[in-house]
Amino acid sequence: MNAGGASLSQHEHHDVVDLFVIGGGINGCGIARDAVGRGLSVELAEMNDLASATSSASTKLFHGGLRYLEYWEIRLVREALIERETLLRAMPHISWPMRFVLPYHRDMRFEGDTPTSKLLNVVMPWMKGRRPAWLIRLGLFMYDNLGGRKILKGTTSLDLRGTPEGAPLQDRFEKAYEYSDCWIEDSRLVVLNARDAQARGARINVQTKVASAEQKKGIWHVTLAPQGDGETRVVRARMLVNAGGPWVEDVIRNTVRINSTEGVRLVRGSHIVVPKLYDHDKCYFFQGEDGRIIFTIPYETDFTLIGTTDAEHTDVGTKPVCTPEEQSYLANFASSYFKKPVTTDDIIWTYSGVRPLYDDGATSATAATRDYVLKVNETAGAPMLNVFGGKITTYRRLAETALEKITPYFPEITGPWTAGVPLPGGDFPVDGVADLTARLAARYPFLTPAWATRLVKAYGTDAFEVLGDAALEADLGQNFGAKLTAQEVLWLIKNEFARKATDVVWRRSKLGLRMTAQEIEKLDVWMAQNAPQTTSETQQSLRKGRG
Ligand SMILES: Cc1cc2nc3c(=O)[nH]c(=O)nc-3n(C[C@H](O)[C@H](O)[C@H](O)COP(=O)(O)OP(=O)(O)OC[C@H]3O[C@@H](n4cnc5c(N)ncnc54)[C@H](O)[C@@H]3O)c2cc1C
Repeated sequence: MNAGGASLSQHEHHDVVDLFVIGGGINGCGIARDAVGRGLSVELAEMNDLASATSSASTKLFHGGLRYLEYWEIRLVREALIERETLLRAMPHISWPMRFVLPYHRDMRFEGDTPTSKLLNVVMPWMKGRRPAWLIRLGLFMYDNLGGRKILKGTTSLDLRGTPEGAPLQDRFEKAYEYSDCWIEDSRLVVLNARDAQARGARINVQTKVASAEQKKGIWHVTLAPQGDGETRVVRARMLVNAGGPWVEDVIRNTVRINSTEGVRLVRGSHIVVPKLYDHDKCYFFQGEDGRIIFTIPYETDFTLIGTTDAEHTDVGTKPVCTPEEQSYLANFASSYFKKPVTTDDIIWTYSGVRPLYDDGATSATAATRDYVLKVNETAGAPMLNVFGGKITTYRRLAETALEKITPYFPEITGPWTAGVPLPGGDFPVDGVADLTARLAARYPFLTPAWATRLVKAYGTDAFEVLGDAALEADLGQNFGAKLTAQEVLWLIKNEFARKATDVVWRRSKLGLRMTAQEIEKLDVWMAQNAPQTTSETQQSLRKGRG
């Protein structure tokens, strides 16, 4: 498609892509998918693996964000609530409803600087910062009704005494509310968006850094530097999309080298994973006496996920890690609710990510806006769209908003299309996981129930393609551990941009929780030997696929 915008219409260029997207997190991949589906030619570069930064380190919830109501972020909460069911329908393999139990206790407190707590301090000073039960119920009423639910159940009250939900909790917790949100496999969501973008004609480069981008005669010249010994190459593009997440400001200042007043606020959040803490399948929403909240979530069948923290992260170049202080904080917070204390010795795995929040000058990390801000910058002489903030939950809406900003430069593009279009493998009913698992187990009788469930919840209807015409387990080749077979790994290399063992065991799956360090190392060696050939085949088919 030729550019039609005022600043671009004079230039007719061949071999120039319409959009070049920097960053293969959820926002970059979501925008690439939406844009290519509207007829734009699109190329994307991710400097590491897809979802290697924030988009694999979230709490993994499609949620409205109950606590953002206290910050009066009504627009964001409403959009996210509505979006939950649209997303569920498009990806019933990697997303499912979850119930959240919110125990109530009179000592629960607000964070001091929310607009709601400031208001209550004035009109009800005797509450002394306590978060009253009626306010929580009011918040849940809004939560139930702002977003037009059809699939998800509404809020109920729960007597914790003598119930499975009350059993693991300390006896002082007698009452709770129970409400709905959804789980999402965050890193698989990113990969499926990239796959779909590629299938529609986008070119996706992983392990490829955008080293620089400069404007010449209204066209961007984007220099790509592949990791390892690949050669640098230059791609020309009509418009840049900077979806660098935590690096958004770094890209503006150091990669594109333009002046901008826009800034990003880096707020680290960490999670810990411990052996399963309780037997039911619901999550807990715990409120602390410091005004913060944490979730405990049933995770990967045998584990419980606990998070998150909010800590300022000053340097984007420093890899975020869950510090010993954060580990103790999360363990102690959970222990203030559970009968059996959680200790740091229980921790099996931790992960951390950095929220790339728009710098709105908020005083505390917890208070900084979670809403997204999209700004087109034309100071370099060619347009560049910078993406700040955003949530996993709102990625599809963020992409639609991005396309609204892009449309003036490409007026002939078509309109929004992604609502209701399934992601790869998601073309089955929203409540169809059990049926699909039964069909897969019948077709491949050698699968154990846990194995069949894992494959369906990762690949959906594509699970049949992953297993191909295998009649016996041995037909799938080497087992690297935890039933990860050579056939599955080759499929991931060929179809899902996997290059290293960590891509496979921590982002395409969470089998890293079940495999030993030696098994993962062996897999890495095997992938290095088997990836290059498949990689070049993938590159060739990619080039053929370009429109
Ligand atoms: C602790 C935590 C919990 C969260 N929980 C939730 C939740 O439960 N639900 C929810 O909806 N949201 C949640 N979020 C928010 C959500 O995870 C993020 O908003 C979202 O993942 C941001 O995606 P992104 O694509 O903007 O950034 P990223 O995922 O960080 O992607 C940016 C990518 O750009 C790449 N990049 C940067 N510079 C270059 C360059 N020069 N060349 C090539 N590539 C480059 C990076 O390598 C990176 O992969 C959470 C966030 C955190 C930190």
